[in-house]
Amino acid sequence: MAAAGAAVLPAMSSCSPGGIVGEASLSNVKDSYSADLLVVGGGPAGVCAAVAAARKGIKVMLIDNGNCLGGMGTKGLVGPFMTCYDAKGENMIIRGLFEEIVDRLIAEGGAIHPSKIRHTTEFTAWITEGHDHVTPFDPEILKKVYDRICAEAGVKVLFHASFVNPIMKGRRICGAVLLTPSGLESVRAKMVIDATGDGTVAYRAGAPCVFGDPESGRVQPASLFFRINNVDTDRLIADVVPHLPEFRRVNGVSYRCLHWRVAEAEAAGEWDLARKSVNIWRSVEKDQWVINCTRIHGVDATDAENLTAAEIEGRRQVEELMHFFHKYVPGCEKATLMGTGSTMGIRESRHVHGDFVLPVQDLIDGVIPDDNILLSANSIDVHGAMGGPAGGLYMPIQKDMYGIPYRCLLPKDVDGLLLAGRCISADSAAAGAIRVMPPAMALGQAAGIAAALCLTGGTTPDALDYADLRKSLLEQKVYLG
Ligand SMILES: Cc1cc2nc3c(=O)[nH]c(=O)nc-3n(C[C@H](O)[C@H](O)[C@H](O)COP(=O)(O)OP(=O)(O)OC[C@H]3O[C@@H](n4cnc5c(N)ncnc54)[C@H](O)[C@@H]3O)c2cc1C
Repeated sequence: MAAAGAAVLPAMSSCSPGGIVGEASLSNVKDSYSADLLVVGGGPAGVCAAVAAARKGIKVMLIDNGNCLGGMGTKGLVGPFMTCYDAKGENMIIRGLFEEIVDRLIAEGGAIHPSKIRHTTEFTAWITEGHDHVTPFDPEILKKVYDRICAEAGVKVLFHASFVNPIMKGRRICGAVLLTPSGLESVRAKMVIDATGDGTVAYRAGAPCVFGDPESGRVQPASLFFRINNVDTDRLIADVVPHLPEFRRVNGVSYRCLHWRVAEAEAAGEWDLARKSVNIWRSVEKDQWVINCTRIHGVDATDAENLTAAEIEGRRQVEELMHFFHKYVPGCEKATLMGTGSTMGIRESRHVHGDFVLPVQDLIDGVIPDDNILLSANSIDVHGAMGGPAGGLYMPIQKDMYGIPYRCLLPKDVDGLLLAGRCISADSAAAGAIRVMPPAMALGQAAGIAAALCLTGGTTPDALDYADLRKSLLEQKVYLG
C-alpha cells in the first residue's frame, strides 16, 4: 500500500507563462466558431458567467473538456453547496443565479433548500463552524438543470473541447485553439472568460500566476469524492450523536465524525489514511451519503503524470474506506459504492494575479470594497496549510460577511480577458474561502455581466464603470447588501 497522504510531487511556488498562439501559427487549425464571448470551463463559475452574459443579449460559447456542465459539483461529485448565508446564519446573501439554480433543483427533487439545513446535523457531517445552511443536491439532477439553463439562455455549449492555447493579437486575447474529437479547432471571440479553475487561459496568455502559497510552497491537498447508498441512516445517526461532545480540533487535525471508529480501525491496523475522522454528508435521498475523506498531498493539477498518480491513489483510498464502512460503521454494513468522482478534486493550483490581489486579511476584517460584486461568509479553511499529514488552518471571519472586489477578475498583462471562480486574483488563504461553489457561481455571474457590458458599451474590463455593473448585478437579482 502507498503511504497515506504521501506527496506525489512537491508543489511549485511560482509559474512562468506558457506558449502563445499568434495568427501566423493557425494554419493547421480549423476555423470553426465565432462568438462575442468565449467562456472556457463549464464549472459553476463558467456556467453562471455564460448564462449571465447571454441574458444580456450577447452571443456566448461555453466549452468544457468533459461531457457535462458543473465541474467539481458534477464530475467531481463534490457537495453540498457550502453556505450562502451570513456568518450569523440569518440571511441568505448569495442569491442571483445561485438561488435560481437551487430553486430549479428543488423543483426537480434534486436539492433541499438551505433555509432548512442547520449546522451540526447529518447534512453538515455534524460540523458546526461555518457550515450553517449548506445545500445538499443531487449531481445528476444538477447536470440537467445546467443543460437547461444554458439552452434557455441561448448559450452555445461544446463538450469534449479542451482549451489548448489562446489566439493573441499583441497582449489582447481574441480567441482560442481547442482540441476536440475533430482535431484542432479555433473559436474567434471578442472577449474570453477564464473559468478553468486552474487559470490555464490566463497563464497561457501571459498573465502572472503563482502556484499555491508561494511562502510555504504548498497547495491544499486534493481529495477524490465518492457517494454511497444503501445506508441505514437512523443507525448511523444513532452512532454519531452521543459522540458530538467529543468533536475537537487539535493542532489543525480534526477529530470529528466517526473518529472513534477510525481509532478502532487504526488499532486493528486497518487504517492508513491521513485523516482522523470521516466527513460524511447526508444527501437529498435519505440512504445516500457523500464522502470527503481521501487526501493526497502535493498534487500538481497542471501535470498529467502527477494527476494520474493522484487519481489511482484516490481510488485506493476509496477502497480502504469502503472496507472501513462495511466493517466498522453501524448502518453502513451494506453500503454500496455509487461512484467515485470522474475527476480528482483539486482545491488549489494556480492563482492568476492582477494589479490587485485579494488579501485574506480583508476577508477576516469583513471589508466590503467600493467595487463589491458579491457578499459571502464562507470561512477561511486552508486544508493542509500546517504541513502535517492533515493539519489545516481555520480562520474565523470577524464580521457577518465580506465582499469581493471586481478588481479580482482582472488579470495583469492581458487585455480582453476576465477571471471567474477558483483562479481569481487572490492570495492562497483568501482563495481558501471563496473557492467554494456559491461564491464561484457569483463570481461567474459578475464576470459574465461585466463582459457583456464591455461588449455592448464599447469599453474594456479595466475601464468598466462600477455603477453600471452594480445596476446589472441587481437586475439579475444579485444581493449586494
Ligand atoms: C476536495 C474538494 C472539496 C470541496 N468541497 C466543497 C463543498 O463541500 N462545497 C462547495 O461548495 N465547494 C466545495 N469545493 C470547492 C468547489 O467544488 C470548487 O472550488 C468550485 O467548483 C470551483 O468552481 P470553478 O467553476 O472555478 O472550477 P471547477 O468546478 O473546477 O470547473 C472548471 C471546469 O473547467 C474545465 N476545464 C479545466 N481546464 C480546461 C481546459 N483546458 N479546457 C476545457 N475545459 C477545462 C474543468 O474540466 C471543469 O469542468 C470543494 C473542492 C474540492 C476540490
